[in-house]
Amino acid sequence: MEYRAQAEIDLSAIAFNVRQLISVADVPVMAVVKADAYGHGLIPVARTAVNAGAAWLGVALLEEALALRTAEITEPILAWLVPPSSDFVRAIEHEIDLAVPSRAIFDEIRQASRSTGKRARIHIELDTGMTRGGFLDEWDEFLDFLLSDVSWFSEVEVIGLFSHFARADEPGQGQNARQLKRFVEMQDDLNRIGIVPTISHLSNSAATLADASSHFDLVRTGIAMYGLTPNIEHLGSSQSLGLRPAMTLRAKLHLVKTVDAGTEVGYGAVGKTTVDTRLGIVAMGYADGIPRIAQGAGVFVHGSRAEVIGRISMDQFVVDLGKDSPARAGDWVTVFGPGSSGEYSADEWGAASQSINYEVVTRIGSRVPRVYSTISRSV
Ligand SMILES: *Cc1c(COP(=O)(O)O)cnc(C)c1O
Repeated sequence: MEYRAQAEIDLSAIAFNVRQLISVADVPVMAVVKADAYGHGLIPVARTAVNAGAAWLGVALLEEALALRTAEITEPILAWLVPPSSDFVRAIEHEIDLAVPSRAIFDEIRQASRSTGKRARIHIELDTGMTRGGFLDEWDEFLDFLLSDVSWFSEVEVIGLFSHFARADEPGQGQNARQLKRFVEMQDDLNRIGIVPTISHLSNSAATLADASSHFDLVRTGIAMYGLTPNIEHLGSSQSLGLRPAMTLRAKLHLVKTVDAGTEVGYGAVGKTTVDTRLGIVAMGYADGIPRIAQGAGVFVHGSRAEVIGRISMDQFVVDLGKDSPARAGDWVTVFGPGSSGEYSADEWGAASQSINYEVVTRIGSRVPRVYSTISRSV
């Protein structure tokens, strides 16, 4: 069957990026595969990353970690968004490392450990300034508790200690240095009471690429593994970082029509042609993850860019092909790709949607089939 749209995932680009990140980091790499591997497909990406040398896998949800285990992936997995009342028993039975950002979660994990008779593997998560996950106000009390009642020790093994940067994609920002300092202080707090986790980790992709002083024992790389820059303005393009974008999104032209100047296009008649032209109706819309507000991006077809005209609809959007375009109904167009052949990039779609490349690739919907190749299409 021919699809009307597909996201082509170049697994050789992912393998290349993983190897690149391993050599930049100089410490083991955790491949972050949360959110269906940023829209690229959890299992194929995880297998590729592991084969390319990633030592760990990182996910947000317990469901994501369990899906990896179901696929018989045996590498260590850390899940960091496993809220109270989750199935910690299952997590422990499947040897999934769990982030502990609060006393409440620590207590639930202990209880689950007692009922399984297995020691849980945890990574204590610190809030060093992002004010999101991790210990902040409870920290001193938690340290006192760990020291006062050591019965937890037979139930819980502290494997790691970690935190997350808020502004690593802006290397000069003072908040990065403050977070790093706070991380080391909190690490010292723990060491002082005799707890020395094996693995400290702090860096995301941006810090992996921009700040060697924060690499510690492991880096957690997401976006860069998919070949995308964490921040095009402050860190440069993916190409300049030596990365290869892995996703190319393509769709079919459902219709092509010739219209006069002054023709109104789409809901709200937000678009209006200024000259006689040809329009292409692309078989993809916001139900597939194309942002409804996108303006200024478009598609690449027959060697030319054709910009979005009018609002993106649920299942389709319209592009201005230009009067002389040879495009015909049924032709494939490239919505975004590496950008090396003239097509729009995920960065450009991000800018056109008041968003970022992360959101563009992650939101490509489940209605869009992923098609995998291991032979690189472009460099
Ligand atoms: C998503 C995430 C990462 C990966 O971030 P990138 O910027 O994509 O490299 C790392 N650590 C945590 C805790 C995350 O939530």
